Amino acid sequence: MVSFTALPDTFHEAQMRIALREAALAAEADEVPMGCVIVRMRPDGSVAIVGKAHNQTEGLKDPTAHAEILAITQAAEAVGDWRLSDCALYVTKEPCPMCGGAIVLARLALVCWAVPDPKRGAHTVFNLFRHPGLNHHPPVLEGICEAEALTGLQAFFRARRSPARADDTRASSPRSDS
Ligand SMILES: [Zn+2]
Repeated sequence: MVSFTALPDTFHEAQMRIALREAALAAEADEVPMGCVIVRMRPDGSVAIVGKAHNQTEGLKDPTAHAEILAITQAAEAVGDWRLSDCALYVTKEPCPMCGGAIVLARLALVCWAVPDPKRGAHTVFNLFRHPGLNHHPPVLEGICEAEALTGLQAFFRARRSPARADDTRASSPRSDS
């Protein structure tokens, strides 16, 4: 399995910023602002993006359309294998149990998130990445770009709670039912 853990924080921050841009796209579409990017390390050490997505649960009317699931599907297609053991996944908030299960099944070489989820986090609450009953224990990296990600999440939920959406100056984007 490729090792991403020896790479400097600047590498992980650069990937997380891409995930944060995906989260912003989700917020613009009135989706829960979570973004995910998956990068693959080739044998020569070069790195390429193989999956990139944001939450589309509302738009696709699909409870499984979380950023991580969509990105994993893209990555598996790009790599041509369900095993993503030379790939690292970056997500703006700790994965839920569904996505944590998919991360274990995909054999990802690293899972990295910005903000922990003490209520339903796959790791924090359910221990999925260290569970003795599961046969893959991906290395975990927490807190990359945490302040930046937290600001985005808080702004989204504040705007959502405000009935007038007074602080929401973005142009409203029409919902497509595709
Ligand atoms: Zn999820």
